[in-house]
Amino acid sequence: MSAPHAQVQRADFDQVMFPNYAPATFIPVRAEGARVWDQAGREFIDLTSGIAVNSLGHCHPALVEALTEQAGKLWHVSNVFTNEPALRLAKQLVDATFAERAFFCNSGAEANEAALKLARRVAHDRFGPEKYEIVAAFNSFHGRTLFTVNVGGQAKYSDGFGPKIEGITHVPYNDLAALEAVVNERTCAVILEPIQGEGGILPAAKAYLEGARALCDRHDALLIFDEVQSGMGRTGELFAYMNYGVVPDVLSSAKGLGGGFPIGAILTTEALAKHFSVGVHGTTFGGNPLACAVASAVLDVVTSPETLSGVRERHARLKERLEALGAKYGLFSQVRGMGLLLGAVLNDEWKGKARDVLLAAEAHGLMVLQAGPDVVRFAPSLVIHGADLDEGLDRFERALASLVQA
Ligand SMILES: *Cc1c(COP(=O)(O)O)cnc(C)c1O
Repeated sequence: MSAPHAQVQRADFDQVMFPNYAPATFIPVRAEGARVWDQAGREFIDLTSGIAVNSLGHCHPALVEALTEQAGKLWHVSNVFTNEPALRLAKQLVDATFAERAFFCNSGAEANEAALKLARRVAHDRFGPEKYEIVAAFNSFHGRTLFTVNVGGQAKYSDGFGPKIEGITHVPYNDLAALEAVVNERTCAVILEPIQGEGGILPAAKAYLEGARALCDRHDALLIFDEVQSGMGRTGELFAYMNYGVVPDVLSSAKGLGGGFPIGAILTTEALAKHFSVGVHGTTFGGNPLACAVASAVLDVVTSPETLSGVRERHARLKERLEALGAKYGLFSQVRGMGLLLGAVLNDEWKGKARDVLLAAEAHGLMVLQAGPDVVRFAPSLVIHGADLDEGLDRFERALASLVQA
């Protein structure tokens, strides 16, 4: 048996872990705010927040306090009992959004799984067994459970796992005519990301979401917004739907909701929530007191006007600098996205090379992400200090310079 604090290295990954990830060559061991240190004490600026997860930076004092305080009180009681942190969090979410009811789970995939099951259940209860079709967008990403990879619009995630789940249709994103052509009386739900995240940081057009809303109303289908990545202040509003003025029937959240602690949620109306009557759906860990206590603290900070206006200010700073860098080094065709979820789209010459950009950034002490092979993704902390953001972008410039010279 190995000692609990035995020395471990990156090479151990290949010996003891499933090979389904290809992690970086360094191992982060400590972090604070927007800075991360690896085993050798090398410092990185983090412009990723996990993948839009640690939205208040690393080890935010309010979150550390919420977690440690709850850790000394109550960790888990099962859903045979309710608990105070879950009730507090649900109240906060209901107060801050269109929703009247919250259901808690542990991840984005589980949130979408619940949302999709709810849509099928509602349609079944109200209209009978023929109404079960789900319409989703190509290139969308909704998680990695069997249902959510089938609903997601990327064959690479759904192929090779046996028979597909029936009744799912995909249409091109941001194409209202294509949506109109497939939504009908058998449709129980349309699920959309207000900004496609994994698909390349592609925001929806306002008219598209408005059109989707009208179509769903006309055909008694639920409109589900997957806000796992776009929510929790990322766009400068608490949820992205608020920028569009288009209200979904069901909203899924996760990632930033726990600020780095695993939690997911779906939000909906009382009339829809009632279809999940006792025993219809559930999860052991959903509504866990530790997760809910942390998420409550996250919401307190994120919903403050200073945080949300801070996102909009940082957006302008980040976008302008990325555009300038793109022009100077001739790499990007466009910088797109909202708030602090931005994608620098590689031009024809650099197409497919997002991973090379990531590796160059890493070599210059900077953590960035890709969103597919052609887009370099930025999702910094919503409260990143201006000086850290500038330093991160300076490092990014040095990384780009090294790439262009090579
Ligand atoms: C990350 C993501 C998910 C999946 O969340 P997990 O917590 O990894 O299960 C679902 N939808 C969107 C839009 C995401 O970005």
